[in-house]
Amino acid sequence: MLALKDIKSMMLCELKEDLAADGTEEYRARQVYEWLSKGISSFQEMTNISLKMRQALQKKYCLYGVRIKKKFISQKDGTIKYLFSLHDGGLIESVLMKYEHGYSVCISTQVGCRMGCSFCATGKDKFLRSLYPSEMLSQIQEIQNDNGINISNVVLMGMGEPLDNYDNTVKFLKLISSKDGMNIGMRHISVSTCGLADKIYKLAEEKLPITLSISLHTPSDNFRDEIMPINKVWKINDIMAACKYYIKMTGRRISFEYAMIKDFNDGKKDAQNLVNLLKGILCHVNLIPINSVSESNFKRSESCKIKKFVNILTQKGINTTVRRTLGPDIEASCGQLRQREESHKEE
Ligand code: SAH
Ligand code: SF4
Repeated sequence: MLALKDIKSMMLCELKEDLAADGTEEYRARQVYEWLSKGISSFQEMTNISLKMRQALQKKYCLYGVRIKKKFISQKDGTIKYLFSLHDGGLIESVLMKYEHGYSVCISTQVGCRMGCSFCATGKDKFLRSLYPSEMLSQIQEIQNDNGINISNVVLMGMGEPLDNYDNTVKFLKLISSKDGMNIGMRHISVSTCGLADKIYKLAEEKLPITLSISLHTPSDNFRDEIMPINKVWKINDIMAACKYYIKMTGRRISFEYAMIKDFNDGKKDAQNLVNLLKGILCHVNLIPINSVSESNFKRSESCKIKKFVNILTQKGINTTVRRTLGPDIEASCGQLRQREESHKEE
């Protein structure tokens, strides 16, 4: 028997073509697609589609998606953290944040992560698999439906390394920005990477108007080697060369993420080295006061140190912001919920 096709990972044109082969009219394909964009979880919910066709769809396609397993609402700022389960029992996390300009979601791209960064809860846990485009889309749809809202911004900064799941991530970007689908413009989407230089070149060729974020965290290869194993493969110079190519191809400003770790990367010298590294590059720096995770001794930098760091960067003309700490009472850093849930299972 042929494997069922993942219908939610298809573009409208692909579905039309697929259904036309069975003699289905184009307007029917469009109706089916509208239901898929609403985030339905069974073909039976397609009430304007005949029973016969729903049965035929069920024989040919599967509906991959995510289901809410747990939900934590911050009493401080309303941020909501979701623990979702997948059809094969995998667990992932997403976060809904409210900003002045609307709602933003942070979604996962993999169940776990293979990159093993020492400060990250996800990197310490088992890697199971990459997510399908449908499962990335479904995180947003479930959150929209759960809250009765429309999401305006999406960040791929949850569990996993998006560029280690390259094809599915790019397909997801095309699906979510499609006028036939959720229609969230690529300018409202950020993709964050630990720095897979070869994939940054590849992404540059796609010329997508997304924002690319590089998790740099230090301007020193020695320090980076200590906290990010990927630095053994791609050095900072490799990443910077890829970034320059990316900017040349897309004309887009790159955002550099920098987790502020007490007495590790938050000194005056680090700030000056960062200035030298980023000189002349179309960029923005986003400082993230690090969230402490279990099994690592990293502590958040003191706020006076963060302020000094910002001053050095801005004085040299580098646009810098400090990320607001959202949902401090619900364990904000991604990967922690899944870690806790999995360890309960083993007990
Ligand atoms: N794998 C991608 C995207 C997911 S991680 C990447 O690494 O960029 C999203 C962001 O959270 C990255 O910038 C990552 O470095 C950061 N991060 C991970 N653990 C963190 C922690 N404990 N505190 C603060 N930021 C963290
Ligand atoms: Fe993976 Fe990103 Fe965490 Fe590193 S920081 S382990 S790349 S999710």
